[in-house]
Amino acid sequence: MIYQILRPLQNKRGLFSLFSYICTPMAIQTNLKQPLKSSFITHNSSLPIPIMSIFDVYPLLDIEPVSAHGCTITDINGIDYLDLYGGHAVISIGHSHPHYVERVEKQLHKIGFYSNMVQNRLQKELAHKLGVVSGYPDWSLFLCNSGTEANENALKLAAFQTGRERILAFSSAFHGRTAGSVACTDNSLIRSPFSLSPDSVTFVPLNDLEATEEALATKRYAAVIIEGIQGVSGIVLPDDHFLQELRRVCTQYDTLLILDEIQSGYGRTGAFFAHQHTGIEPDLITVAKGMGNGFPIGGVLISPHFKAIHGQLGTTFGGNHLACVAALAVLEVMEAESLISNAQKTGDFLLAQLFSISVESSVICNVSNSTSFFPPVSQMSSPVSSSISGVRGRGLMIGFEVPSSYPTLRNDLLFKEHIFTGAAGKKTIRLLPPLSLSLAQAQQFISSIESLATY
Ligand code: PLP
Repeated sequence: MIYQILRPLQNKRGLFSLFSYICTPMAIQTNLKQPLKSSFITHNSSLPIPIMSIFDVYPLLDIEPVSAHGCTITDINGIDYLDLYGGHAVISIGHSHPHYVERVEKQLHKIGFYSNMVQNRLQKELAHKLGVVSGYPDWSLFLCNSGTEANENALKLAAFQTGRERILAFSSAFHGRTAGSVACTDNSLIRSPFSLSPDSVTFVPLNDLEATEEALATKRYAAVIIEGIQGVSGIVLPDDHFLQELRRVCTQYDTLLILDEIQSGYGRTGAFFAHQHTGIEPDLITVAKGMGNGFPIGGVLISPHFKAIHGQLGTTFGGNHLACVAALAVLEVMEAESLISNAQKTGDFLLAQLFSISVESSVICNVSNSTSFFPPVSQMSSPVSSSISGVRGRGLMIGFEVPSSYPTLRNDLLFKEHIFTGAAGKKTIRLLPPLSLSLAQAQQFISSIESLATY
């Protein structure tokens, strides 16, 4: 307010502006339908107009999507892109799915939000449906708004339940960016001086049972937190046997097991949760990303041995009406269109094709390195400048390495072939497409990789 009054005094017209501002009835001053250039924001043309900008923390691609349907994104210039990134594993049932749009739109006309102090039958419906579809019908659900928030609440629950304060996490893990979850994230660059004490979290190498058991044997750890499949670090799978043994040692030392399925859950790997491929049951499971197909929602699935205490956890927006219908629509479409088995089928196809390209390209590379039988690279008709390797993943959560010409390949996929992919570090391409990806769309990607990866 003071700024608005003093600012017009900067020039002569300002006095008039100030006068007209004071004389303007409040109702008109605050009427947002008035054009923005109202009398009290007159500007000295010799001064630059201050305009609030976006805090520049994201390196942006020069592409602006304006609409999207299924696995296709259309940009402001009318160019269509195949989406093999899903906005970072968020788009589970496909962009703008008609059932999802209808559900959210209808709810918006009824009630979008009220606080968690009243009954909300949509929350109960969602918990019931999620319990059935995920295979955890007797668990309970705490609803929040994002992945990091889900992990914060899981960590708190574990500490409340055990009375212990330490957490064991794994090398290269990513669990979010808020205080507790960033403390469990193995990346000091995103951990600020304001964080948990370094003693609170211990990192041990993934799949190292001995180091894990040695830490847990101290009986000082409230929980172990582990991703179903490490995503941000570049699609790194925990060994099945390691997960089974991890469950055993957690039970042995009264430590809770938190499975972070924020990226690997919601059907992405061909099971509802990635850990279900190994037959183990954790104590807490965190979810977000695919849960709302873009609508911000997260949750903690809580095993029956936890007792809820009023006031211990809470959130303003978590579990609001709109978020619940978005999440219900996701589960309904996943069931109706058998998207989990589609993720398995299309994922198997992609993995097999990528694997055969990587084998072929490694043969070509070996040939090019050979000195005795084949001509040197410079004399070959199609010189090998790149190849893919290290193909890995489960279902539609796939990673592979492009050692020599990584930025070129990813940029070429995007700008020449019009295919969105994800990245991890400097060498890894990540595929996290909508679970509705068809075999034809998967083949389109394979053909593009074949034409680009060895050229
Ligand atoms: N946990 C995992 C495994 C993730 O991949 C992410 C995000 O990439 C998070 C937690 C944090 O989720 P959010 O960005 O919704 O806070």
